[in-house]
This record gives sequence, structure tokens and C-alpha cells, in this order.
Amino acid sequence: MPSRPDRTLRVGGFVPFSTVDYPGRLAAVVFCQGCPWRCRYCHNPHLQPFDGGAPDWPRIEAFLKTRCGLLDAVVFSGGEPTAQLGLLDAMRAARRLGFKVGLHTAGIFPFRLRGALDYADWVGLDIKAPFERYPATTGCPGSGRSAEDALRIVLHSGVDYDLRTTVHPLLLDEAAKNRIRRHLDRLGARPTRWQEFRAAGCGDEELNAVASASKFDAGQ
Ligand code: SF4
Repeated sequence: MPSRPDRTLRVGGFVPFSTVDYPGRLAAVVFCQGCPWRCRYCHNPHLQPFDGGAPDWPRIEAFLKTRCGLLDAVVFSGGEPTAQLGLLDAMRAARRLGFKVGLHTAGIFPFRLRGALDYADWVGLDIKAPFERYPATTGCPGSGRSAEDALRIVLHSGVDYDLRTTVHPLLLDEAAKNRIRRHLDRLGARPTRWQEFRAAGCGDEELNAVASASKFDAGQ
């Protein structure tokens, strides 16, 4: 699976102030460039190519130094942050500045996630489907195995976490949601938070058409 070998974090976007990306904290959000999966509902497809964005971490770190005491946390989102070798240095640097560190991940690289958890105070992990049905959503064989391994690693790490699942009626019916509930229960995980599919940014015309034709409820 492709990933980024550079040591300087490549960044595709930056939000200097967010109230929704780290639970209960004011955070800056770094959108890491590159993701090897191709989720049908992805609303950040411009973050998928590994040659997009720019090696902007040093500039962001300089900005963060001016926000000490004003922000609580720095969140690394994506794309898939663990695809880049530069992630750990950036997380360490954010910690050194006194920020809490959050990580949004789909669990694509479980082994690297294990290393990143040493520098994370909170993780938001996507649960995209029942594990055996992941490829229908991500377009990648073996993706369910990676996600399940990642969840086990998070659960054993003791790092605080939240799980979230995007719901679209073409990808996730009630039976599939019940399978997810059972999987999480079996592993001793917290329930996932169901979040409604957002058409903004999504390039899948079929998903967008169904979503606009039927206003659906993500459920509980
Ligand atoms: S894992 Fe996330 S960034 Fe990657 S394709 Fe899926 S939704 Fe998009």
C-alpha cells in the first residue's frame, strides 16, 4: 500500500481554530496529505493523492508557537495521517509545545498507529462497515483486517478514543449497523457514533443522488 517516506509532514490543509475536532477542546487541525483508500463517501478527495499538498509542517509549527496558551490541542487529520513517516516528529513537536494531541485515523496502518499512540491524548477512529464488508466502502482488499487490528491496538493502548461511522443507505443498512454493534461489543469497545453522510465534497454521484432524494436519518 502506498505511503509517504519523507520525514517532513506533507500538509493539504490547516484550520487554525476548531471547536469540533477534539472533544471539549479548542484545537488547530492539520490535514495530512495522502490516503491509499478510496472510500466512496470521502468528502476530502483532494487529500488522497500523495503528491498533493506541501511539506508545510515547519511553517505550521512556527504558527503554533504563537498559540501556546490560546489553544488546547493540535489534531492530526487527513487524508490518513499514519501514512506519513513525518507524523511522529510532528506529534512530538506539538506535545513539546504543551498541546494535547489528537489523531483522526481510519486505521489503515495499524503498526504505525501503535507508534503514534505514544504521542496521542485522544484518537478518533473510523469504523466504516462490518469488518468483512470494508472493501465495498473503501475499495481496498484487506482493509477490514487493518481496521480491526487498529481498533484492537487502540483498545489495548489505554489512550482515550471515540469511534465514528458514516451512514449512507446504499452502504450501510440496519443489518450492517447491527453487525457493527455486535463486533464492537465483542471487542469490548464503546458504541460508535453514527454520523450522517455529507454530500459536500463527495464525488460519488450515485451516493449524492440517493442522499438528496431521500433525507435519511443516521440513527442511534
Ligand atoms: S480513509 Fe478517509 S481520507 Fe481516506 S478515502 Fe476514506 S474517507 Fe477519504
